[in-house]
Amino acid sequence: MIEGQQIIGFEESGEGTDVVKSINPGTGETLGQFKKATPAEVDKAVAKAAAAFQVYRKKSGKEKAAFLEAAADEIVALGDALVSICCAESGLPQGRIQGEVGRTAGQLRLFASLLKDGSWVDARIDTAIPDRQPLPKADIRYMQMALGPVVVFGASNFPLAFSAAGGDTASALAAGCPVIVKAHSSHPATGNMVGKAVAKAAKATGMPDGVFSVLYGDGSTVGTQLVKHPEVKAVGFTGSYGGGKALFDLAAAREHPIPVYAEMGSTNPVFILPETVKSQAEGFAKGFSGSVTLGVGQFCTNPGMLIYENTEDGKQLTGKLEEHFAQTNGGVMLGSNIYRSYNDGVAKHLATSGVETLAKGVQSDALNVASPILFKTNSQVLGDHPDLSEEIFGPTSLVVEAQSKEDILNIARNLSGHLTATVHGTEKDLTDYKDLLDILEQKVGRVIINGFPTGVEVCSSMVHGGPFPSTSDVRSTSVGTAAIFRFTRPISYQGMPQSLLPDELKNSNPLGIWRLVNNTLTKDTI
Ligand code: NAP
Repeated sequence: MIEGQQIIGFEESGEGTDVVKSINPGTGETLGQFKKATPAEVDKAVAKAAAAFQVYRKKSGKEKAAFLEAAADEIVALGDALVSICCAESGLPQGRIQGEVGRTAGQLRLFASLLKDGSWVDARIDTAIPDRQPLPKADIRYMQMALGPVVVFGASNFPLAFSAAGGDTASALAAGCPVIVKAHSSHPATGNMVGKAVAKAAKATGMPDGVFSVLYGDGSTVGTQLVKHPEVKAVGFTGSYGGGKALFDLAAAREHPIPVYAEMGSTNPVFILPETVKSQAEGFAKGFSGSVTLGVGQFCTNPGMLIYENTEDGKQLTGKLEEHFAQTNGGVMLGSNIYRSYNDGVAKHLATSGVETLAKGVQSDALNVASPILFKTNSQVLGDHPDLSEEIFGPTSLVVEAQSKEDILNIARNLSGHLTATVHGTEKDLTDYKDLLDILEQKVGRVIINGFPTGVEVCSSMVHGGPFPSTSDVRSTSVGTAAIFRFTRPISYQGMPQSLLPDELKNSNPLGIWRLVNNTLTKDTI
């Protein structure tokens, strides 16, 4: 039985009596218990983070990079012990979790390299023109600076790469913000191991006590207290629409509202165009079925809707989908609550008139094991029941038969905001359906051609975001280096003496970074 408590900066604390239990979703076995934070412990973590901010924000990019790299090394060094507890708590297979360890360390190192380069601060300098007529122009210099303590709500479906030391934490720490993690209750032991590794790295690299904390407890108590705390300056969240929207509303209702970057999921529509329906039915049906059921469908980029024309070729494709989907497997879901909501979503589809079951994957009644199911309907039923396009988190999707190209365009026009949209088409298809692409780029954060939306690359050009309700802030991404800008704000210094300017903005350019000087991008000194 694993026991654990809060990680508050460099100390551990267990003042409370209530616990969060670590449960293996595949067996129902209790693996451990973790004390929930008391209100006093929440206050202490925030107070420490606020004090740490005053030191951490002054650390150089190289110093912060050393911390992030040490955190990556410490997490990797946890080795098999971390992989095994994470698999047990999440029900996810070993290969997937090993991949997530690599991704988690890779994200931390990617942000470290951004900090070492230093140019990310977007320095802009407009030098003074004292003799300008009719009025002199002042010296004005601009850059991005850290917001302050950030609260991160870990995601259930990425117990490493989007949890205690995942993408939100890495980008906030890189921005110069201390982080307080509200640990996800579905993998508390994983969060504890990772949390200790990050705290160890912080201490070893000379970071201030309180730069990183992990708290256990319910969203409605610990999470709410954190988001309402006046010293907290931003929130990162991945999870359900209900959870993300509740936190967004809470933050907006504060006396001093703060930004909430909530990634709340999406149905990720896929369109397959006529020539491709005709020529690629077999390969597409196989790839699509695999994408829907990958990771038991527990990805926010899972393709939950497929649209194509109901032609003779379309009917052939439907047959191929039926064939391939029937061979798919389900698996243990992340927890009993997620398994319950998957089955509720499936039951709702089954009860909707005009929605039929096209294929079922391998069925199982083992504990918390989801069985894949593929539904079929037509554009008219979808129009009458817009809730059919809402996300069901798990191995399912809805095939929508359209009557014409105009019908397809109408479906696209009626889409709400999604993380991704995918189009399969030949060069001719894509040219013929240019107007579809034009609609889709206004609906999503990432348009994918001839691929599948699952598998989000962590790189500088990635947008993992999208219009509401897929996220609460369309201007941001939660994956890739641009995620750092969620936790910064711009500041201008006007007439500031050289000695008091941050290094990034000094005439001598001591960091050797790229800067926009009098509207020219350069690394030159002034
Ligand atoms: P969730 O219920 O939204 O919970 C995520 C985190 O937010 C948890 O730490 C939770 O705390 C907290 N929280 C939820 N509602 C809150 C509220 N009203 N006030 C304060 N804190 C709140 O997500 P989940 O547990 O991971 O999964 C539930 C469903 O979310 C899934 O079935 C799926 O539909 C969706 N989901 C979407 C994504 C995605 O990629 N967007 C990922 C995972 C899940 P506690 O639960 O500890 O109280």
